[in-house]
Amino acid sequence: MKVYKFGGASVRSAEGIHNIVRIVSTVDTQLFIVISAMGKTTNAMEVVLDNFMKADRGAALTKLSEVESYHQEIIKELFEYPQNGFDAIQPLFDELRELVATGVGDDYDRWYDRLVSYGEIISTTIVSVFLNESGIKNTWLDMRHLLVTDSNFREANVHMDESQKRLNKAADFNTSRIYIGQGFIGANLKGNPTTLGREGSDYTAAVVGNLLDAESVSIWKDVPGILNADPRIFKNTVHIPELTYMDAVELAYSGAQIIHPKTIKPLENKQIPLYVRPFNHPEETGSVIKSTTERPINVPVLILRKNQVLVTVRPRDFSFVLEESLSKAFAVMHKHRLKISMIQSSAVTISVCVDNSRYLAGALDELANDFRVTYNEHLELLTIRGTNDQIISDTTSEREILLSQHTRRTARYLLKEL
Ligand code: ASP
Ligand code: MG
Repeated sequence: MKVYKFGGASVRSAEGIHNIVRIVSTVDTQLFIVISAMGKTTNAMEVVLDNFMKADRGAALTKLSEVESYHQEIIKELFEYPQNGFDAIQPLFDELRELVATGVGDDYDRWYDRLVSYGEIISTTIVSVFLNESGIKNTWLDMRHLLVTDSNFREANVHMDESQKRLNKAADFNTSRIYIGQGFIGANLKGNPTTLGREGSDYTAAVVGNLLDAESVSIWKDVPGILNADPRIFKNTVHIPELTYMDAVELAYSGAQIIHPKTIKPLENKQIPLYVRPFNHPEETGSVIKSTTERPINVPVLILRKNQVLVTVRPRDFSFVLEESLSKAFAVMHKHRLKISMIQSSAVTISVCVDNSRYLAGALDELANDFRVTYNEHLELLTIRGTNDQIISDTTSEREILLSQHTRRTARYLLKEL
């Protein structure tokens, strides 16, 4: 069997969903389709949630109506009999309205997962109904019953063994050749919905591929495959046809937007190839990530990770940082879910570069108990793999550099935002 994943951009319009029909109708093997929320629905649901948490139910319901209209517009354009689509999503919006109108917004992360996860429930419902109407028979699955996670709301980790039992039972390919499930979402053992982190649908596709022993996983994207840099930021980008799992992990970790960093491990563990394929040109091959490649990457790869903060801590008692305080500082950062992208130390300081997130303030507060803490915001981290002098000067001259690190093949610069 194969896994196909379609992201938010692929399902943001009726046209995109027609394209999914075209792509899926060429497949004659068993298929598990993973789908994200449509377009910017996750962002919109975050606004619903924020209003709900502020106890502004009016604003939350108004935003929810916008989300509903957006989906209705797509249905109107897509279905010959739109009422079939409306009927399918109406109960979901009724549930959401009920939650928003009566719920008590106590725990942000828990409510995030409960409300925002509907984006994927709604999108998969529409696509599943439409595919069935188009003659592509499929079975819709609710991943909130199949992907079992811990209770780390908003960044949940999948329990592979329990999920394997449930998923294999639900998607046995006896009664159906095609299954459709949501990316990004699952539930803990008690059945409370969880999410796997923003852009986590790739990770779902990889986990499903692992659990069902897929022959391959394909992520369909609105790009020609993997490029050596983000064409929105850098000029003269080139296509990379083949990457190793190791290359891909490094790229994703450095901040390449193309795949979620957690995606590679479940695939590497079972040696399942990952194809990144152009949604609008399904005849093209895109890029493949696998254990070994015939063509090593021979161009510099540039990755820009935005919205970074440089945090420097110094033990209050002037003790040597590496000997005494390192584990304490990292324990606090881990507890507050800081995502560390670079580390540097001196005798009495540790500096880390982290993503700016809503958890940062809490972490800085707690660090301040034992450390003197200083930080700089509005930074970006540039990673150059396969570096050379020319490319360094092209990308960093005239930029203010706060920190740099060089290894044999890789250079990293923490730069002030322009
Ligand atoms: N819909 C979720 C998000 O936008 C998950 C995903 O798209 O992968 O973050
Ligand atoms: Mg999305």
